[in-house]
Amino acid sequence: TDAHLKAMEAARLLNAYVLETPDRAREMARAADEAIAKGEGGPLAGIPLGIKDLFATRDIRTTACSRILGNFIPSYESTITSQLWRDGAVLLGKLNNDEFAMGSSNETSCFGPVANPWRRAGSNTDLVPGGSSGGSASAVAAMLCMGATATDTGGSIRQPAAFTATVGIKPTYGRCSRWGIVAFASSLDQAGPIARSVRDAAILMRSMAGHDPKDTTSADVPVPDYEAAIGKSVKGMRIGIPREYRLDGMPGEIEKLWSEGAEWLKAAGAELVEVSLPHTKYALPAYYIVAPAEASSNLARYDGVRYGLREPARNIIEMYEKTRAEGFGAEVRRRVMIGTYVLSAGYYDAYYLRAQKVRTLIKKDFEDCFSKGVHAILTPATPSAAFGIGEKGGADPVEMYLNDIFTVTVNMAGLPGIAVPAGRDAQDLPLGLQLIGRPFDEETLFSLGAIIE
Ligand code: GLN
Repeated sequence: TDAHLKAMEAARLLNAYVLETPDRAREMARAADEAIAKGEGGPLAGIPLGIKDLFATRDIRTTACSRILGNFIPSYESTITSQLWRDGAVLLGKLNNDEFAMGSSNETSCFGPVANPWRRAGSNTDLVPGGSSGGSASAVAAMLCMGATATDTGGSIRQPAAFTATVGIKPTYGRCSRWGIVAFASSLDQAGPIARSVRDAAILMRSMAGHDPKDTTSADVPVPDYEAAIGKSVKGMRIGIPREYRLDGMPGEIEKLWSEGAEWLKAAGAELVEVSLPHTKYALPAYYIVAPAEASSNLARYDGVRYGLREPARNIIEMYEKTRAEGFGAEVRRRVMIGTYVLSAGYYDAYYLRAQKVRTLIKKDFEDCFSKGVHAILTPATPSAAFGIGEKGGADPVEMYLNDIFTVTVNMAGLPGIAVPAGRDAQDLPLGLQLIGRPFDEETLFSLGAIIE
């Protein structure tokens, strides 16, 4: 803990943490030491972690990196973080993220962008760590914590992991409790760990997972020993290579890495099969209807009355308007506008309902594939390596949305997906591969991921 606190101080330029909690960290570390001395240390005793600022931490400021929650101090603890503390982990601080987790580059945070500790060979330009869990990925990669919590609504665990050579897993929807996590799009949101190895991710996942009666979508299924899945034979497993992910204009190095990954799994005894997920091309447009629709509804609660910021005004309508105009950043306002539009009478059938139907077809694509005996699907994690801060999405938000092309389908289908570091591009930047699994079969992802990393 002390070593990490020192490293955090030295690396403040990365802007990975939005709040450091050294006193709490030392207190928790002391308690962990005592528990270990008594032989009562939990599985994470003394392990220092960073927590994405989307997780409510009791008596510790939690902002979702939005001005509207700038002074919000929860009186409760999220289920996931309470499970981590139960198992002995230590809180180092709260990590930066895109505002309300909306973004792919961590540039929409009210605390400013996070820098990726990786840079292009021979260059001094700061790159994004990906998003929305950019602080989590950057902190883990720069050794400013041993692991971090993150959330993934459309790729926000896996894309930053791929950009920073870390491991990130989005569990099956319902595997981890969403209680006490600031909601973005409730039917897609799922939390998971970012860690430096598949083994670390498996260890953290075990503490984070589990049924929670406080989250009605939380699944009452046993939590396996994920660590035990590492090193298990993958002989005879069928790995699907989806034809539709071979995009026109995909960089050659991504294509090459993807084939290499497939070869490594083959060498370990797995069998490769070409599969088809025909509705893939509709996933991104459908996601960018469903996610903003749910976000506009979830964000209605920030009204200047119940939480955080309140702008002075002459009457209540003006107070709402001023508070929300001041409190939300540009990307969040854009999503609220898209969301209320697609949900409005007259447009609901044309957009939201249609997107939900597309979602069912996407889910069915995967079910068909798994019903043919495929155990997991291998794809690239991202269409490129990390890009420069300020380089993308300025005038055209869609340019940024295209980053999620390989990751959003997994959220739309509620499936587990893991991103593992697999190689480097021509400029020596990390590239990741993604494995998509059957519902509640994260174990297979850990077994296969450990072969690739
Ligand atoms: N980049 C996607 C978005 O902006 C996904 C974000 C996420 O997974 N939280 O919606």
